[in-house]
Amino acid sequence: MTANPVLLSFGGNLGNVEAAFDSALQALEKNGFHSSAFSQIYRSPAMGCEPGAPEFRNRSVLGIWNGSPEELLNLIQRLEVQAGRPADHPHWVSRPLDIDILVMGDLVLCTERLTIPHPEIANRDFVVLPSAEIAPELTVPGLGKSFAALAAERKHLFPPENQNK
Ligand code: ADP
Ligand code: MG
Repeated sequence: MTANPVLLSFGGNLGNVEAAFDSALQALEKNGFHSSAFSQIYRSPAMGCEPGAPEFRNRSVLGIWNGSPEELLNLIQRLEVQAGRPADHPHWVSRPLDIDILVMGDLVLCTERLTIPHPEIANRDFVVLPSAEIAPELTVPGLGKSFAALAAERKHLFPPENQNK
């Protein structure tokens, strides 16, 4: 049995990203992911991408998944490709849809294909802030910190006008 709840991060910066988020959420639901909460959509400048890249949109989605982590990764990778992302995408390029598995209950996993919890959680405002909105009490295994605590830390680092809410 897989650890629950599962927290996902949706992102994208090409085409109609909000429509891609809606389609992906519907497809996840059809394929056994039971969502219980989703954040507002946050906007942030494209950092580390090619010059002139459009801004990103991100949202976090909370739910239940009864399959394995690898099955969930297979599903989200299929949805990314369906949304127009090349299957052999490099890191840090513009994309219509990116779905990352942030947390799966108390699972800690590191394989060639999957690192759970996602290793960049604490470094990314666009992950921490939407996640704190819907799952403030959820603790990131390994870090031992809740999303509310992570968001409070990041608010000390960035003035409010740069939070891109
Ligand atoms: P990023 O999401 O950091 O921009 P990519 O989406 O381009 O990077 O990276 C995709 C790769 O990351 C996939 O090949 C996948 O196997 C791997 N990966 C490792 N851990 C995770 C995770 N927790 N969620 C999603 N993908 C992951
Ligand atoms: Mg990804």
